[in-house]
Amino acid sequence: MQSGGDYSNGFHGEVEKQLPGLSSFGRAKRRSRGVAHDPRGGLTNGVRVSDQLGEQKPLETQKSPPPCTDFDVAYFHSYAHVGIHEEMIKDRARTETYKEAIMQHQSFIQGKVVVDVGCGTGILSIFCAQAGAKRVYAVDASDIAVQANEVVKANGLSDKVIVLHGRVEDVEIDEEVDVIISEWMGYMLLYESMLGSVITARDRWLKPGGLILPSHATLYMAPVSHPDRYSHSIDFWRNVYGIDMSAMMQLAKQCAFEEPSVESISGENVLTWPEVVKHIDCQTVKIQELDSVTARYKFKSMMRAPMHGFGFWFDVEFSEPASSPAKTTSATSVDGGSSSMSPSREGNQKKRSNPSDALVLSTSPEAPPTHWQQTIVYFYDPIDVEQDQVIEGSVTLSQSKENRRFMNIHLEYSSAGRSFVKESAMEVVKANGLSDKVIVLHGRVEDVEIDEEVDVIISEWMGYMLLYESMLGSVITARDRWLKPGGLILPSHATLYMAPVSHPERYSHSIDFWRNVYGIDMSAMMQLAKQCAFEEPSVESISGENVLTWPEVIKHIDCQTVKIQELDSVTARYKFKSMMRAPMHGFGFWFDVEFSDPAS
Ligand code: SAH
Repeated sequence: MQSGGDYSNGFHGEVEKQLPGLSSFGRAKRRSRGVAHDPRGGLTNGVRVSDQLGEQKPLETQKSPPPCTDFDVAYFHSYAHVGIHEEMIKDRARTETYKEAIMQHQSFIQGKVVVDVGCGTGILSIFCAQAGAKRVYAVDASDIAVQANEVVKANGLSDKVIVLHGRVEDVEIDEEVDVIISEWMGYMLLYESMLGSVITARDRWLKPGGLILPSHATLYMAPVSHPDRYSHSIDFWRNVYGIDMSAMMQLAKQCAFEEPSVESISGENVLTWPEVVKHIDCQTVKIQELDSVTARYKFKSMMRAPMHGFGFWFDVEFSEPASSPAKTTSATSVDGGSSSMSPSREGNQKKRSNPSDALVLSTSPEAPPTHWQQTIVYFYDPIDVEQDQVIEGSVTLSQSKENRRFMNIHLEYSSAGRSFVKESAMEVVKANGLSDKVIVLHGRVEDVEIDEEVDVIISEWMGYMLLYESMLGSVITARDRWLKPGGLILPSHATLYMAPVSHPERYSHSIDFWRNVYGIDMSAMMQLAKQCAFEEPSVESISGENVLTWPEVIKHIDCQTVKIQELDSVTARYKFKSMMRAPMHGFGFWFDVEFSDPAS
């Protein structure tokens, strides 16, 4: 809960928030599955995957690398899931630009030694091998390294690509390398803070004058207006099926805008030229520089509009070290060299000069979309800005103390006043003038006291597959505590169904995809993909065409009579006769609930 109040002088607001929590680690925002992982098991000292089982080298004595924390373990664990790699690889702007950058720098790579920091499935390592690298060290601390090794083997590249399963901070490479390649960028560039590991790799192994891809990175910010998003999340509460729920609006603002939001905006949402928050030269950047980044900014809005917050995006550039002799000339730029973005099509004064016309991967609102999208830090309340109005202040991005992979954002801006929210449910009721009729009890149904019997119980208790969340038990409790004999329960009945399902597109989308990934045979990933995609039940929409025959009832519940114990475990036998010839991919489950009077 947030303490707060109005800034009555209206001239200084601040917000300090975190990016999403542990459960949404990683760019695919997938929940890491709950497999326990010993922080010291296979992570503190890297092992070549091929001779993995058993003979781990003892930890070498070296400048002590940062400890592998439980947060790091969770982080690496999230990358063991196939979905996150699928999402990144299917991001064509990302993967194709990396591929192009590798091909463009072929003269630096051919016959040379490369390290791929955080190789994931090994895709960039294989691109480098295809570009003629003599040797590629593909390093990843996540268990995905095991798969990377399979992919490398299946492509006959085991003699060139050496997969090391461990942290870049811990693994040993017994030679200097010519090239470092890494896809290390997180949301808002610095979220995840993997750049530190690239710096570590550089300082441990890169030859003087060696190539780092990408070579530069720039984080931008700009004021944004996004009325649709605002009204979609906030104004929605003004009239909810005819009820004035605007008392929810403060809570809605807090929930919607407390954390930075990763979403796509367009150039039209941007009020003026972006400013640079941080420019990074990967050859020279120091780890300490990344602990905390502060930038002052001053914008002058180019239009009159409600300003809803600030947008952040980044680009990375792939260019050779300045002193490099082997400069290539065939450089092209994916977005015409506009590494920033422009609110109008005219030239961008704030654009960094890009004399080499280097290849740029941009995540700006005007560049082709990427999985990074943009990150928006919303205000709780918009500020109306006039054309030429100045918005100024500062932004600080700092690594969270407890988990350095998280980022705290401290944003100061001079503008109109802002307010924070504390409480919600009571107010919904008050706002409708129904306080005498609706009594909000803030507590569990199992605990609150109601000093009379009730005639009706109404509840929306259904979870996925009907019983997930099992809130029905609380409805039963309410019934047994308060419902008059013969009283009404809405819904009165619930039924869970199942049926055999065929879903070829879903299957090929997630599984067959790996057969040919930018020309690489990654079918070695398919087993893992199946496990990741199909281990857990999937909540998704299917159509009647996916269902092979009539459903059967798994459980029918009469809310008047059902007992809590019945729900602990439900077993049903079934027998289906398929009505068609088709590949069957699994079973579908759904439910209905019925609203009827007690059969008095
Ligand atoms: N290069 C791959 C994957 C990029 S995602 C591709 O382009 O598709 C980043 C990867 O870096 C993840 O798999 C993560 O596990 C790994 N990683 C992050 N920090 C690391 C570190 N310190 N040591 C080894 N691997 C790391």
